[in-house]
This record gives sequence, C-alpha cells and structure tokens, in this order.
Amino acid sequence: KKPVIAIDGYSSTGKSSISKVIAEKLGLIHLDTGALYRGVTWFALQNCLEEKGTINLEVLFSSFDQIELEFKNDNGELILFLNHIDISKAIRSNEVSDNVSFVAKQKEVRDFLLQSQRSLAEKGGIIMDGRDIGTVVLPDADYKFFLTASIDERTKRRYHELLSLGIEADEQQVKENLIERDRIDSEREIAPLKQAEDAIVIDNTNLTKKETIEEILSHVKK
Ligand code: C5P
Repeated sequence: KKPVIAIDGYSSTGKSSISKVIAEKLGLIHLDTGALYRGVTWFALQNCLEEKGTINLEVLFSSFDQIELEFKNDNGELILFLNHIDISKAIRSNEVSDNVSFVAKQKEVRDFLLQSQRSLAEKGGIIMDGRDIGTVVLPDADYKFFLTASIDERTKRRYHELLSLGIEADEQQVKENLIERDRIDSEREIAPLKQAEDAIVIDNTNLTKKETIEEILSHVKK
C-alpha cells in the first residue's frame, strides 16, 4: 500500500512545491490544503462582504451549500475549481492572503473542510500539506514532517513566487503578511499550527528545495 504523508509547517517553507515533487517521485496524489482555505476565502470576498469591506461570517456560514470545491487531476496535481471556475491563480492574490487566516480560524470553516480532506486519504497514496495535517486531519499518517525556516528566507521565497505568478508584491508587506498569518494560525483555538509530537522537524533555511526533498525521501524510502 502506498504511504500517507503529512507535511506541516510555517508559511512559505516550500511545503507545497516540495510535496508536489515528492508526489511525482513516489506516484502519490498531492493535496495542498491551504488552497481549500484560500478557496473559501475567495468565495467570501466575492459573496459575503459587508459595506465596510469586512467578511460577514454569518453569511459565509450559511453559504456552505453553495460552495462546491472540486479538484481535477492534472498529472497527479489536483487543480482547484470553485463552482466550476478554475481559481488556482485567484487564490494567490494579496487580498486572499490578507484574509485567509481570519477565515481559517473559524470552527465552522474547519468543520466544513475536514471530511473532504480525510476522505481523500482513505485509500492511501497521498501527500497532504497544511498546518494541522499531522495533528488533526491525518493523525495516523505513515510519515509526518514539519518544515520551518527563518522569516527572511521565507519572505524571499514568497516574494519571488508572487513575482513569478505575475502578482505585484512589496517585500516588506509580504514579510508582514507571513508573520501575521503564522501568528493567527499558531494562536487560534481550533487545530492551531504546531508540530505533531511524532513529526520529523526540518529547518530548511540553508537547504535548497532539492536538499529538502532528499532529506524527506531519506526517511520515507526504507
Ligand atoms: O498553505 P497556505 O499558505 O496557502 O495556507 C493559507 C492559509 O490557510 C494559512 O495561513 C492558514 O491560515 C490556512 N490553513 C489552515 N490549515 C491548513 C492549511 C492552511 O488553517 N491545513
């Protein structure tokens, strides 16, 4: 049976791009769970805004039955569609990044997304990355990793990722967004960002993407 691998960690430690490569190498499906929270946030920004521009949570919570999040398999990579619209680029916008942790700390939102994440892992053969995969979503995962890196290194990575997506970015703002999201994600009551007790911790500040992948694979391939 193919393994179930959980990858958690701080923002912009490379979780998703690393998971994608590992999925290709091991023939696993890759699920970026942050994309789900970003998808709900994108929906909220489109449909649940109050006049002053804040998200009305009550409206959001009563709209879940209008949110159809669907992954389409593109060579092992799951591309996210919301009500049949490809939102994979839209969910990377600064507006979504600025609001996602507020949305993700709501119990209603986490409950809404939990079951679909778990059911994707039932058959094994998956690598899932996020903040609470090893602790809450898949506590019985075969392998758990927790990635961390210095804030300056992570800022650099996210800044260049945004530029490569054609999204305008300011390095100082990127840094503030990472710090703020990590703070909200770590301090929230439900499923906070933290390492599972049995996770292997990798600080990749001074590792290349390739070296981080090799480090992870050295634990998985036995
Ligand atoms: O992984 P990414 O940076 O795209 O995640 C965006 C946000 O989604 C995180 O900052 C966090 O608030 C939320 N998230 C979460 N639980 C996960 C994955 C992401 O709360 N498993």
